[in-house]
Amino acid sequence: MTLGDRELLIRQAHVLDPATGLDGIMDVRLSSGCIAEVGEGLRGPRELDADGLHLFPGFVDVHAHWRTPGREDEEDIESGSAAAAAGGFTGVVMMPNTDPVVDRPVVVDGLVRRVERESRVRARVSAALHLGLAGERLTEMRLLKQAGAFCVSDDGLGTASAGVLRNGMLYARSAGLPVFLHCEDHTLATGVVHDGVAASLAGIPGSPASAEDAATATALVLAAETGARVHITHVSTALSAALVGFFRDRADVTADTTPHHLTLTEDLVSTLDGLYRVNPPLRPEHDRAGLGLALRDRVIDFVATDHAPHASEEKELPMEEAAPGFLGHETAFAALHTDLVLGDRLSLTRLVETMSCAPGRWVGSGGSLAVGAPADLTLVDLSEEWTVGRPTLVSRSSNSPYLGSTLKGGIVGTIVGGELVHDRTGAKFGARA
Ligand SMILES: [Zn+2]
Ligand SMILES: [Zn+2]
Repeated sequence: MTLGDRELLIRQAHVLDPATGLDGIMDVRLSSGCIAEVGEGLRGPRELDADGLHLFPGFVDVHAHWRTPGREDEEDIESGSAAAAAGGFTGVVMMPNTDPVVDRPVVVDGLVRRVERESRVRARVSAALHLGLAGERLTEMRLLKQAGAFCVSDDGLGTASAGVLRNGMLYARSAGLPVFLHCEDHTLATGVVHDGVAASLAGIPGSPASAEDAATATALVLAAETGARVHITHVSTALSAALVGFFRDRADVTADTTPHHLTLTEDLVSTLDGLYRVNPPLRPEHDRAGLGLALRDRVIDFVATDHAPHASEEKELPMEEAAPGFLGHETAFAALHTDLVLGDRLSLTRLVETMSCAPGRWVGSGGSLAVGAPADLTLVDLSEEWTVGRPTLVSRSSNSPYLGSTLKGGIVGTIVGGELVHDRTGAKFGARA
């Protein structure tokens, strides 16, 4: 019998749920995998004392690379979902740039079945927008959807031609699938890092911000014209954020930005360390600050990590030779809580909204502690300090840009469908008569 079949009473947590407006010390009773009751003085046969902890709707990460199939040495569904759970995430969307690419119904179907067996959290599968991510022939989106695909994306690459992208949006719209876009113009993005002061000082070739901004503008214009449901992922410049804001009421568009673009800058280029290579690249301080304001002001809808594990031999290289990408799941909340909330740039309520409620709405489940909602919750100790190190990481890889950083905010428990899938509550469980 799993906890999902039984009852679990979480007692005396500080419940914070922007979706329902709950904010205060209360008890939450879970039953049959759903939220059964929220109130004071509740009693149950199986209780978890959460005195001193915060309880949020489970975090949702719409941008995860679990490297399966093909690079299970870097991450697989077991390790990726364990890392997600360790970061408080109860749901993710898996990107399709694997080997083979998730561009045929049989691959989607196989992944959906594996996720059901192997994932600790709710994992949705993104299929490719184009066969082989090649930006030429569209995938059979209706069949991919029937096989269980949640959205379509060529993430990892921008789309070479506006005409091709427009056709993709029209087809995705008719198939009823959201289009998840990595906006990058490869004729402009010819460098390794952001083309700015840090790149010049380090003597490393840079890509201009326009590589992202021009592609974002094109995507938004096409979204407005086609009526497709479009999500722009990893917005990393203040101008791209402003463009999203301009199109908010003109297109069916949403956008996310990443914890690393909200907390780190191009200054890390001076280390010459390939660990810090990522795409889109870390930007100057004015972009980092602008993204924080855009997230605060609801111009950007939510946070997604772009969790991108890489083997150490792909990262322990000079910047020019290293693979781009960072781990994201396990440090997302703590990095944002430490930098933005404790730095007085974002309220805790808005952070929870951008990690739980808004991405939960985008995937169509979770993100709320309303009675009857799935019992997907994250239990957090806001006062816990920890230093990110290889031994603290659950992911099979260790390419975190926060290695060595001390962060404040620890995930104590992650509950999916009423079941503790990440549990640091220790001996706090106690059966009551
Ligand atoms: Zn991308
Ligand atoms: Zn990605």
